[in-house]
Amino acid sequence: MFNFHTYMIDDVPCLLNVEAESVQPSYPAHVSLSVGIHPWKVSDGWQKDFESVRSVAQRSDVWAIGECGLDKVRGEALSLQIEAFRAHVALSEEVQKPLVIHCVKAFDELLALRKEWEQKTASHRREAMGIGENEKGLQPWIIHGFRGKPEQAQQIMAKGLLLSFGHHYHVETLRSVFTAFQKRCSEGLSCANPFFLETDDLHLSVHQIYEQAARHLDVDVVLLSRFCDPRQTIFSL
Ligand SMILES: [Zn+2]
Repeated sequence: MFNFHTYMIDDVPCLLNVEAESVQPSYPAHVSLSVGIHPWKVSDGWQKDFESVRSVAQRSDVWAIGECGLDKVRGEALSLQIEAFRAHVALSEEVQKPLVIHCVKAFDELLALRKEWEQKTASHRREAMGIGENEKGLQPWIIHGFRGKPEQAQQIMAKGLLLSFGHHYHVETLRSVFTAFQKRCSEGLSCANPFFLETDDLHLSVHQIYEQAARHLDVDVVLLSRFCDPRQTIFSL
């Protein structure tokens, strides 16, 4: 079992979201970190905060960059958020660690950014041909706390992004994403993880989320835990 996004340490392996300035010298072995600037905290002068993110990004217990992202409901102007987001994408590529994304009502902009970076990476790869650099595509982008409808999930996943669900997911979305995963697996296509599960900032155990999802999907919770474990997939690089 793995908690994909949390602010609290308990006994379950997790990706603990921390602000770069408050990163401790060390953490228990089952705790890995994501560091970034939350879109609500992006303001003029974000570059200074970003220096702290950059300074811890190489640590071996930092497994992901984020959460970072775009929020049209809260925070500063979207243009400023986009500027900070681009810096996170560049860092994620530089240190080769996945990106954990907070996205509220800005999916068109997010997908446009993904496309832009894919093109950039592809042209980079062409230039580096023969040198063996940039063989891989972009780092995984994972949208945490996804609450959208099935159509939106499909649209996002079709662009290669991944989803993490917290307590308040849309049940039909969870089911449709899982069904698509089963279909991919049965067709012998890539079927690494259907999605991830997280507590986010709620004070409950991720066990409860796994049990709830297993019930909604009518699958065994142990099996679901295996499916949703990022440690052998996106974090095994
Ligand atoms: Zn968030």
